[in-house]
Amino acid sequence: QASETQEPQILPSFVAGKWWRPEDPQKIADVRNATTGELVARVSTEGIDTAGAVDHGRTVGQAALGQLRIHDRALILKQLAQYLGEHKEELYEISYATGATAKDHLIDIDGGIGTLFTFSSKGRRELPNANVIVDGAVEQLSRDGSFLGEHVYTRVPGVAVQINAFNFPVWGMLEKFAPAFIAGVPTIVKPATPTGYVTEACVRLMLDSGLLPEGSLQLISGAARDLLDHLDARDHVAFTGSAATAQSLRAHTNAQEKGVRFTAETDSLNAAIMAPDVTEDSPEFEAFVKSVVLEITAKAGQKCTAIRRVIVPQSLKPAVIAALRERVAQRAVVGDPRDSATTVGPLASDDQHFEVLRSVRTLIDAGATVELGGPEELASLPDQGAFFPVTVLSFDDARTPAVHELEAFGPVTSVLGYSGDIADAVEIAALGGGSLVATVCTHSPELAAQFASGIGAYHGRVLFLDRDDAKTSTGHGSPVPHLVHGSPGRAGGGEKLGGVRAVKHYMQRTAVQGSPDLLTGITGKWHWGATANTVTREDVENGTGEHPFRKSLQTLRIGDQFVSDLRTVSLEDILEFAEKTGDTFYAHTDEEAAMANPFFPRRVAHGYLLVSWAAGLFVEPAPGPVLANYGLENLRFITPVTYDDAIRVTLTAKKITPRVTDEYGEVAWDARLTNQKDEIVATYDVLTLVAKRWPVADS
Ligand code: NDP
Repeated sequence: QASETQEPQILPSFVAGKWWRPEDPQKIADVRNATTGELVARVSTEGIDTAGAVDHGRTVGQAALGQLRIHDRALILKQLAQYLGEHKEELYEISYATGATAKDHLIDIDGGIGTLFTFSSKGRRELPNANVIVDGAVEQLSRDGSFLGEHVYTRVPGVAVQINAFNFPVWGMLEKFAPAFIAGVPTIVKPATPTGYVTEACVRLMLDSGLLPEGSLQLISGAARDLLDHLDARDHVAFTGSAATAQSLRAHTNAQEKGVRFTAETDSLNAAIMAPDVTEDSPEFEAFVKSVVLEITAKAGQKCTAIRRVIVPQSLKPAVIAALRERVAQRAVVGDPRDSATTVGPLASDDQHFEVLRSVRTLIDAGATVELGGPEELASLPDQGAFFPVTVLSFDDARTPAVHELEAFGPVTSVLGYSGDIADAVEIAALGGGSLVATVCTHSPELAAQFASGIGAYHGRVLFLDRDDAKTSTGHGSPVPHLVHGSPGRAGGGEKLGGVRAVKHYMQRTAVQGSPDLLTGITGKWHWGATANTVTREDVENGTGEHPFRKSLQTLRIGDQFVSDLRTVSLEDILEFAEKTGDTFYAHTDEEAAMANPFFPRRVAHGYLLVSWAAGLFVEPAPGPVLANYGLENLRFITPVTYDDAIRVTLTAKKITPRVTDEYGEVAWDARLTNQKDEIVATYDVLTLVAKRWPVADS
């Protein structure tokens, strides 16, 4: 492990189940503490067996992950998050050397751990406990229902390679690892060299936890320039970094010709737009200024989501600049990240410092006025360390190309004026060519709607900031695992997060067509028309059949079906239900008005009467393994039921999802009401919780 007092050893990689260091490398990169310049890590991958790592993932990793199901893997993520949470102080300690302050640790390290928790719970709540995910509804492709089609997701058979940027050594890894792991795809992490020692420490903890299946996580600490040479259509690459590197990787033969799945997140010129309804005195003005200052100071502005373009009505430009100056003076303290007074640490490396300075100079050459900070203020900062002053630039011409093209990846932003006309603001924001996120600050729902349709197509995410959400907002710069993170256009064209969507990035969607039995076999979900194990009330009473409600998850199988008797609806039933519930809508109570309605022959039964009766028709009332009914889904009323009609219900176990953490599971039942002519009256799913064993005492 790297230390600041001893000469650090070469940072190891973890490949094919072993920690690995090059034996006698000639090419070594030295990585230095961003504040003190001391050597923190030495890095080389000379001689590493990249092909072997890829092969290990595709074979050992795929096999080990494939033995588990989505919920098992999601649960491991929770345990992993707990483990990392217990050891996060160790990561904080190491991470200071990157220039990160204590608050920055919350974004990178706690943010990464939080992402694991979120994916764990979403994976278990929103995905099936299976390895196949059904996407959307079943399409009936033959008139008699014997030929159906639907879409399913299955995991990709290769590895998920992540090539990460230097700015988030922990979160950057975990946000990609979590969805790939749930999908069942082994990960190979290649962190950026300047901060890869933090990633290495985190990977070490993850492996030490003993929670990860073999081959599910490998680490390449160092250049790994040959990574794409070993990949093909089985594999996925998720890249974060500069647009130039993304372009060269995207152009690799294996991406172009062999179908490597490639997504990128690159430079993004994110905007914060002040809408024309905001005045200097409105609470939105203050919230806007706070947000801009927070975004350029957190992580010393080295965030892919930081606000680079502050687009405000021309008339308010001087006031916004003055307020930014004032807030930076009050809040921004550039200094040693270990000092609790510091809010802005150094940039991650001298190279980054050089890059940011060069970018700011280019912006000045392109016409920027330095309103705050800038190259001249460098002299007031400590000599040693990659410190950069908080810098606010302004442009007279809001359409100056450089400000929409050049990402100064540090505590730097530019203020631009627009005419006050929304179309003008939208046009200026769009010059960024596609950004990860924009903030639109407005208290007007009408203006919010105009901005949403104006800039939506250029952005992965838009935060609408006003007085009501300013305090509770997670902030412009915080991608949340629940929502899309990524963007069209120059910011890479990718979409990494987005709840369970992110899991599906590591899976292939395939249309499957076949008979109800075959699709039931493929998806683990019973399809109407597939083989059923049917019992009637008579069977139950005679003892020749067991009601499915008597079965615990040990014996209940999809396709277990109960068909009720017919029950006739009388006019009295309808009127009584109307009176008892207060639902005296005319279609149930006024014969003449009901007959005038194009949908009803005469007075009809309430849909809820039918659903309630259905419960009475299928229920098995004695205490048993069915513990609770927690809802209905997809309820549709299809054929009206009038008095003297009769209904019956067919209830079939459709989907069984044992919970990995509880003594029960979820059972979705296909419920279908039909009338005396076998016409479909209503369809829906009944959602229940069913014990894994019954009686529980026998378990
Ligand atoms: P790079 O694009 O140089 O590096 C990003 C990652 O790609 C690193 O892990 C790097 O490895 C790796 N890499 C570089 N070349 C190759 C290659 N040929 N094959 C495989 N991997 C490769 O970006 P930086 O991290 O140096 O940042 C440069 C600029 O990118 C920043 O100044 C900023 O403008 C922008 N950036 C944008 C981000 C965003 O999300 N919008 C995030 C971070 C940076 P190694 O470190 O070992 O060279």
